[in-house]
Amino acid sequence: MSQNIKVTRAFILRTVDYRDSDRILTLFTREMGKISAIARWARSSKKRFGGALEPFALLEVSLGRGRGHEKMFLLNEALLVDSHPGLATDLDRIGSAALVTELVRELTPENDPDPRMFDLLREFMSLVSAPKTVSVKGLALCAKLRVLAFCGVAVGIGCCTTCGTPVPRNKKAYFDPHRGGIVCTPCGGGPILLCADAANALTLMEKRDLSAISTMTFDDAVLDEIYSAISKFTEQQLDHPLRSSFFLDQVK
Ligand SMILES: [Zn+2]
Repeated sequence: MSQNIKVTRAFILRTVDYRDSDRILTLFTREMGKISAIARWARSSKKRFGGALEPFALLEVSLGRGRGHEKMFLLNEALLVDSHPGLATDLDRIGSAALVTELVRELTPENDPDPRMFDLLREFMSLVSAPKTVSVKGLALCAKLRVLAFCGVAVGIGCCTTCGTPVPRNKKAYFDPHRGGIVCTPCGGGPILLCADAANALTLMEKRDLSAISTMTFDDAVLDEIYSAISKFTEQQLDHPLRSSFFLDQVK
């Protein structure tokens, strides 16, 4: 095998049509982080990649360096490892997968490996497509909190983001997206008031792992409150809303 060919596992974060017959992929790999690759003839020949280049798929890819594309890999081969067929069962699952993969795509720099992020995607994608998962939205919010934290923009949850006082349990809490999370009343509170159940659920999502959260049931109104607070926080970080949040709002 030539030295400049890499074989690795990769999640498809996005595919964009390019020229008449090609497709440009945004991939997330364990060893290289987020990368771009061009899949030549992906659109003109269905057989070329055997239908493997679908959103959310986990692939084993063989990558080379394309001539004239220093920043982009050339996709030589793609084998489907997991297409996550369980996603197709409902729109909530697809919407949640879109939300998390889009956040990873928007927040991670290119060619900057973060194995934690790859492992998180692996766990999230298998849970979000598993029939046994009870709360798809709770799982997605929990994954979103992890992605933000791995990217250095953790949401302030356990303590007031201004004075550091621990947030009391079973109490309403103010949330300020501009100041990065929960802000206590003496520090001025914030524009979003989370009910006690939402504040408790947010604490759980920060502390418990994805698989534990996926088995819990949450009240829809509680999840909506958290979803709205985290979305505003994310918009603040990105300077614009995510496209998949429009999709989820429409599904709602
Ligand atoms: Zn405070």
